[in-house]
Amino acid sequence: MPCRTHARTVDLTMPWNPIIKSRRDWDVIPNLHDYEAVRNAFSWEKARADLDGLPGGTGLNIAHEAVVRHATGPQAQQTAIRWLGKSGTVEDYSYERLHDLTNRFANTLQGLGVTQGDRVFVLAGRIPELYIAALGTLKHRAVFCPLFSAFGPEPIRARLAIGQAKVLVTTESLYQRKVAGIRETLPHLQHVLLISDEQPPTQRPGTHNFHHLLEQASGTYRIGPTDPEDPALLHFTSGTTGTPKGAVHVHGAVVAHHVTGKLALDFHPEDIFWCTADPGWVTGTSYGIIAPLTNGLTSIVDEADFDAERWYGILQNQGITVWYTAPTAIRMMMKVGVEPVRKFDLRRLRFLASVGEPLNPEAVVWGEQAFGRPFHDNWWQTETGGIMIANYAAMDVRPGSMGRPLPGIDAGIVSKTESGEVRVVEEPGVQGELALRPGWPSMFRGYWNEPERYKKCFAGGWYLTGDVAKRDKDGYFWFVGRADDVIKTSGHLIGPFEVESVLIEHKAVAEAAVIGKPDPVAMELVKAFVSLKDGVEPSDALRRELLGFARARLGAAVAPKEIAFLPTLPKTRSGKIMRRLLKARELGLPEGDTSTLEGSS
Ligand code: AMP
Repeated sequence: MPCRTHARTVDLTMPWNPIIKSRRDWDVIPNLHDYEAVRNAFSWEKARADLDGLPGGTGLNIAHEAVVRHATGPQAQQTAIRWLGKSGTVEDYSYERLHDLTNRFANTLQGLGVTQGDRVFVLAGRIPELYIAALGTLKHRAVFCPLFSAFGPEPIRARLAIGQAKVLVTTESLYQRKVAGIRETLPHLQHVLLISDEQPPTQRPGTHNFHHLLEQASGTYRIGPTDPEDPALLHFTSGTTGTPKGAVHVHGAVVAHHVTGKLALDFHPEDIFWCTADPGWVTGTSYGIIAPLTNGLTSIVDEADFDAERWYGILQNQGITVWYTAPTAIRMMMKVGVEPVRKFDLRRLRFLASVGEPLNPEAVVWGEQAFGRPFHDNWWQTETGGIMIANYAAMDVRPGSMGRPLPGIDAGIVSKTESGEVRVVEEPGVQGELALRPGWPSMFRGYWNEPERYKKCFAGGWYLTGDVAKRDKDGYFWFVGRADDVIKTSGHLIGPFEVESVLIEHKAVAEAAVIGKPDPVAMELVKAFVSLKDGVEPSDALRRELLGFARARLGAAVAPKEIAFLPTLPKTRSGKIMRRLLKARELGLPEGDTSTLEGSS
């Protein structure tokens, strides 16, 4: 029997029951076998000692730790990345091969005049070139910035402009569909490197051919001195208002990527690891590229989108031992049921983890039923750069809880007093804002060119996460919700303002407000309320036109799935649209304090 079955019922009125007891019949002793002991003995300095540093003490570089040190040692021939193409192609990249190709990319950047700190953006699906470009950029000490390939032209334009991209690596078809039309609005963008996905490759004016450049470049490259505080990664995230924010991470973050892989994902040297996240988002970079490679594992990359049977086939055929996925995918698997899982031999699967959105207790327990292992939820965000709170392999899992803070991470629940002072909530079970004491290596160092926005994230010696949570008496953290209006849909954070800004560009729209509407699978769907200009009548045809208009500009990942027409949108007396009220009305919840509502007496 490949899987053990445990039927359990979940009592949601006692969210920590049933506790799923940690196994004691370990084949592999968990790295974090004793939470308190490991936590007490932990220091970031000691964690740093697990990495090599650049030769001659010239600093710390992510790509050296991820690639070079393995490629030049006994693991040179081991598969670093196994790429599974959509159409069935399998391609292995040993550490040595990855070293050669990333050297070529670093030399290519050198040849194009790219210097330390310049931003290199990659817009691509999960294809090998993305990984080569990411690690080659880090070798060259330029800043790697991934863009999600399901973004439309407008989110792409905004991010390239804010990050002042000098180089963009993308595919011919993505370029043609999403970039060619906006290129002239991007004065900083000097070089576009196109990956051929058309045969024969089309020579598009003003672009280079990625593969031709790599073929011509040297396979030898020496990484220059890299200060651990040198910028390495730029990850865009969304707030309630304003433009997308570029969270800057430094090369020193690799200490956190590396050690959290060991402690929260329980990496061991023999592991075959599969992170299903797309590198367009932070999880796909920190744990889809960096952490498995610094730990010398074999990392599986699947180009295709979710498909339950395909995924079980990958788990079986690739002998995955550690699997890191997301609640939306787990809920989609739950919809298909446990029966399909039974057709596969998944005995090698040792540890299952999930991130990105709240993981329902049922989903944790379903992991046990389907795979003989619970899903271990963990929590972090773009700004934290790595996992901060987790359910560990050796710890009892409380379904519905995010777990306990990593060694080296000091997490708290805080509230603001009326005078704006930050007070730590000591009482268990009381909700407040989830906060972290700054100082871990993968903490973001700023929002690109927006020092004021960065400053606002800190108060009273804490980094304020924007999440509302509570802690139980045993130190487990429980997610309650977001403190702001950002939307989580299929694990992706969407800023309502970005969507509203595009909708009001349509000639029929006077105003727009966007909320997250609860959805049983995707957690939330982007829903827009619009009021129309005088003389324009709502109709189904107009609704369809607006949906299409938004989708063409924003892309499938960001565009609203639903649009409702309202004669006017509720606003405060100062003219701010009250999304909160629209959401309460949508959910049939009490409207809360409406004293500031325009027109209220
Ligand atoms: P992002 O910056 O896009 O990775 O999104 C981070 C946000 O996702 C967090 O601030 C949370 O709101 C949410 N999130 C991430 N992990 C979890 C989790 N395990 N449980 C609940 N919410 C989560």
